[in-house]
Amino acid sequence: MAPYFGDNHGQSNACATLKDVVRRIRQVEERFGRVPGSVKLLAVTKTRTPAEILTAAAAGQRCFGENYLQEALPKIETLADPALEWHFIGRVQANKTEPIARHFSWVHTVDREKLARRLSEQRPAELAALNVCVQINISGEPTKSGIVLDELPGLLGSISAYPRLRLRGLMCLPAPCTDFDRQRLCFRCLASALADMRDRGFDLDTLSMGTSDDLEAAIAEGATMVRIGSAIFGPRTPPRSQ
Ligand SMILES: *Cc1c(COP(=O)(O)O)cnc(C)c1O
Repeated sequence: MAPYFGDNHGQSNACATLKDVVRRIRQVEERFGRVPGSVKLLAVTKTRTPAEILTAAAAGQRCFGENYLQEALPKIETLADPALEWHFIGRVQANKTEPIARHFSWVHTVDREKLARRLSEQRPAELAALNVCVQINISGEPTKSGIVLDELPGLLGSISAYPRLRLRGLMCLPAPCTDFDRQRLCFRCLASALADMRDRGFDLDTLSMGTSDDLEAAIAEGATMVRIGSAIFGPRTPPRSQ
């Protein structure tokens, strides 16, 4: 028997909670008239061990999101499973783009041209183009990553020209808020930005929005990918990274 599966009840619990989250996503799709199965689950594994990730993978989860490169790389290497798809969802430092371009399939948090240029130049030739989303600072928080909407057409224009990037869509992490209608307003703003950019001719298919606390509102407003950590793996300290 693989050592990871020992008798750790906390870890096997990840399976039950993963299934709960998948069920919840399907129910919310139905409630808001979304196409069944159109919302993809990204399991966010910052602070989680390879054993916890393996448990979720054994239960059928394929896409995993990590925030910190130095934490993610050893886990990706330990798991060494080509069936798993790694998404970088943390703040990107310009001097760390090379390992990101090499080890991840997606980057959700591109917010400046310099990062796009480096990621494109550094994406290994033998791999498919790197999928990227542009992060929008939707709540206008001074310390948060992401661009303001005015900068979006320019940045999308430059990203589309990079041969080793595949521009997919927009991402946001709004300021925490418990009111459902206000959560929806933030996500609606990102969804309408996506619609505007499609009208301008950008080929975009991804709205990366919604976490454990606001996935219902995000799905109601058109999320195609929700990024869920604590609802699957339990509470975490510190709670958020950016
Ligand atoms: C941590 C994190 C999440 C997941 O948050 P939970 O509240 O654990 O679901 C989603 N997106 C980003 C960018 C994160 O850093």
